[in-house]
Amino acid sequence: MSRTLFEKIIAREIPADIVFEDDAVLAFRDIHPQAPTHVLVIPKKVIPRIAEAGSADQDLLGRLLLSAAQVAERLGLKSGGYRLVINNGPHGGETVPHLHCHLLGGRPMTWPPG
Ligand code: AMP
Repeated sequence: MSRTLFEKIIAREIPADIVFEDDAVLAFRDIHPQAPTHVLVIPKKVIPRIAEAGSADQDLLGRLLLSAAQVAERLGLKSGGYRLVINNGPHGGETVPHLHCHLLGGRPMTWPPG
């Protein structure tokens, strides 16, 4: 199977504005930001989408969310609030088949989403 864009970012084969990294998680700024702050938080392990995650991924998924909250705080979003979004499959608007959590902040968000 061919490697995804995000695997190439993890391998530093494609440049990205990285804001956080540890052994399991990478976070980098979205190339088409939808808010003043728009960061993608991804597991380094290849999981195509949340629907494909299994019970063995439980700890990793927890780390993903906790990393997103940590990045949000580091980027000054904690007091104003922010939104975390995971798009899954065609109706969810997923375009890159490597699990990622969008961290959006810096402006008020509307609901419902489009
Ligand atoms: P999704 O539509 O939920 O699959 O989100 C994929 C996201 O990846 C979109 O918000 C894109 O703007 C973003 N994206 C695509 N290519 C890059 C890239 N090279 N660097 C950073 N973000 C990217």
